[in-house]
Amino acid sequence: MNRKPPRRAGCVVLAAIALPIAILSVRAAEPAPARYVDEMPMTLKQRLAEPFHTEQSEAVEPFTILGNVHYVGAKNIASYLITTEAGHILLDSGVREMEQAILENIAKLGFEVRDVQILLSSHAHFDHIQGHEALRKATGARVHAMVGDAEALRAGKDLSPLGFEGWPPVQVDRVLRDGDEVSLGGTVMTAHRIPGHTPGCTVWTMPVVDRDATFSLAFHGCNGPNRGVRLIGNENFPSLVEDARAGFERLRALRPDLYLTGHPAELFAGRMQAMRDGVRPHPLTTQQPWLELVAELENRFSEQLASQRASTPAD
Ligand SMILES: [Zn+2]
Repeated sequence: MNRKPPRRAGCVVLAAIALPIAILSVRAAEPAPARYVDEMPMTLKQRLAEPFHTEQSEAVEPFTILGNVHYVGAKNIASYLITTEAGHILLDSGVREMEQAILENIAKLGFEVRDVQILLSSHAHFDHIQGHEALRKATGARVHAMVGDAEALRAGKDLSPLGFEGWPPVQVDRVLRDGDEVSLGGTVMTAHRIPGHTPGCTVWTMPVVDRDATFSLAFHGCNGPNRGVRLIGNENFPSLVEDARAGFERLRALRPDLYLTGHPAELFAGRMQAMRDGVRPHPLTTQQPWLELVAELENRFSEQLASQRASTPAD
């Protein structure tokens, strides 16, 4: 079955949840469907996670995006390699099925797997960090992770409002705070903690020198709470609504020149060959403007909140 690529930067988990709820709701004989993700049985969550282990994680040929930033990920689950003279940084490891392809992609671009020194994450959801521990061992890299997500990485459990699949527990070598920098070989990446999607969701920014131009680049996967998450009265995340609002505020302030996402199929659609060919002006300069993207994400969140308020009886 052909699955439509996810909308813009949205985490695909979001899109995957709505349909089964709709299907379940028309079967009158079955028990009432769970209204919120946290009420769903793990078996249903596993079924919803299935596309990430199959078509989303199919291997693709790696390529250089711009400057020292390369794509070594899968069809619709990102893994970014940032190379320097002093070693390399890998951002996100994807699902477990991607391990071998990522290692091969690094080598295909002419880099040594053993030169990957730092392993970073966008956020602690299985589709971005399930391969972390395997890649940590394969490369010998040190894992840096944001407070709030570092705990989930270590526990091997999704501690976000989504509560989806887990992963092999990860050895975290450095716990980051908001604004911390990761430096290697002259490349400096700044970690911005944007809570809401996961407690330690991290947008990474860095200046990239691409030929004779310098861009501020963001790696963005902090789209606010997933669809289906209980926003009001979520006992595990009492501050979820405030966190999410603050997160959008922080996103707005970042204003990168260019951004990359965790599920980039749609972003890359129609641009992939031009990026491979090294076309300039850079193909990403025609992407949806940052502030428009953030506004779209915040609107979606506001609608989600309004609809949950409307269906939550006042006490
Ligand atoms: Zn996610």
